[in-house]
Amino acid sequence: MKKITYKTPIVEMQGDEMTRVLWDMIKDILLEPHVELNTEFYDLGLPNREKTGDRVTVDAANAVKKYGVGVKCATITPNAQRVDEYNLSQMWLSPNGTIRAILDGTVFRAPIQVKGITPYVQGWTKPITIARHAYGDVYKNSEIKVDKGAECALEVRYPDGRRESKKIYDFSDCGGVIQGVHNRDDSIASFARSCFNYALDTKQDVWFGTKDTISKIYDRRFKDIFSDIYETEYKTKFCALGLNYEYSLIDDSVARVIRSNGGFIWALKNYDGDVMSDMVATAYGSLAMMTSVLVSPDGNYEYEAAHGTVTRHYYRYLKGEKTSTNPVATIFAWTGALARRGMTESNAELIGFAQKLERATLDTIENGQMTGDLAPMFHRDGITPESLTSEEFLRAVAKRI
Ligand code: NAP
Ligand code: MG
Repeated sequence: MKKITYKTPIVEMQGDEMTRVLWDMIKDILLEPHVELNTEFYDLGLPNREKTGDRVTVDAANAVKKYGVGVKCATITPNAQRVDEYNLSQMWLSPNGTIRAILDGTVFRAPIQVKGITPYVQGWTKPITIARHAYGDVYKNSEIKVDKGAECALEVRYPDGRRESKKIYDFSDCGGVIQGVHNRDDSIASFARSCFNYALDTKQDVWFGTKDTISKIYDRRFKDIFSDIYETEYKTKFCALGLNYEYSLIDDSVARVIRSNGGFIWALKNYDGDVMSDMVATAYGSLAMMTSVLVSPDGNYEYEAAHGTVTRHYYRYLKGEKTSTNPVATIFAWTGALARRGMTESNAELIGFAQKLERATLDTIENGQMTGDLAPMFHRDGITPESLTSEEFLRAVAKRI
């Protein structure tokens, strides 16, 4: 059988622990029999980040900028315990943070839905894609614990000597806390463009909400930048596809999301996105069934699973046990990247293969063969779920392709 080919490399970023093991199995069992994988390979596994002084992460991100499409395995973000475990010379930064900073992108997370696993919110028949603005606000704050008697103010100083100051609070009778946060116009604008571009690509509406009635300058700035960019750059394109951009107050937005059927992109400020993405992921069933794609405002795409390296399973694997780790989100990271490459090269065969692999994966589960995390949640008339190891599951999918 002739394998499917494509011209421009995909940036392949290998990772850590259980997902590193799954990565090679997915390539062996599902991809390489059908596609002549043309990748530029970067090993982002923690030992190689240590060996290269984390240069490899920066190089990988720059390669995604160069080639436009990347696929990444989950990686360890080191903490103190990992520094000991891997004998690290320093606590390297989160690879995802480094890549995001270089690509200036927005992360879109969407659930993979299958028949037999019903979302906790019954009405959510279509996926809700969460777009979190991963810059600034409370994540880059300055906080001070103040003692009784403090007078606190915000002060702005310009190079020409101009000053502006506003009272925060007078702590005349009691101590307390204060916090300063910021955001940048260019970052908010990039976020808006990433959301609108991704909406056009995936043919979905965009919903955005802030608290601009209370935060009349800070949150209002988000609302205005989104609105200006939509009106001047996207409205015509949205109308042509019958898509909408809807702005509402964040609390109203939350209420409408719960009542909705899904099928849209929910753009959220940094903190709202942090909180709501965990709620939405849980409501759809499982973190193991959630994909994640980083989209830069200039159109580079990096795909990955939303979950981590599944450390607990890896320790069992090291003891020689066969694990039943769910590879679905990692499979979909690959199909996302292959389909994207197919789009950039108008390669119908490659797009077709990505769709076929996704369909085969879903069909396998819908017909009762799945990993152990899904089996207890699976309910479909006439089908008794069978709990397989990761490898057995991948072989069942391969058979269907
Ligand atoms: P995790 O790897 O997502 O796993 C947490 C738990 O969720 C697992 O122990 C497992 O539960 C379940 N789970 C997650 N993915 C699964 C899958 N594919 N199949 C079956 N069960 C799955 O999160 P973590 O344990 O907090 O983090 C482990 C490492 O991953 C950390 O070093 C962290 O830095 C890293 N991490 C990386 C990324 C990334 O690269 N994007 C994201 C998050 C975390 P049971 O044990 O109950 O089966
Ligand atoms: Mg969170």
